[in-house]
Amino acid sequence: MKIDLRKIYRFDPVAMNGDGSLPSGGDIYYECTECKHIVSSVSHLKAACECGNLDGGQGKTHVRSPDKVNPLRGKLR
Ligand SMILES: [Zn+2]
Repeated sequence: MKIDLRKIYRFDPVAMNGDGSLPSGGDIYYECTECKHIVSSVSHLKAACECGNLDGGQGKTHVRSPDKVNPLRGKLR
């Protein structure tokens, strides 16, 4: 079952790391710009976006195309 994280969290844009890599952490989420699905950057649950760009589980999330990801900071509503 898919959970719409937007109902639980308020998301704000967050900057890329200085070296151009995606930030990650407990409050960082990735929005896939292809399918608009949001996956935690450190997902412990198996989670993937609709198009397969983001594939998370066991505490990390693999990103196929980093240029198609918006990093976001999530705060509980
Ligand atoms: Zn996607």
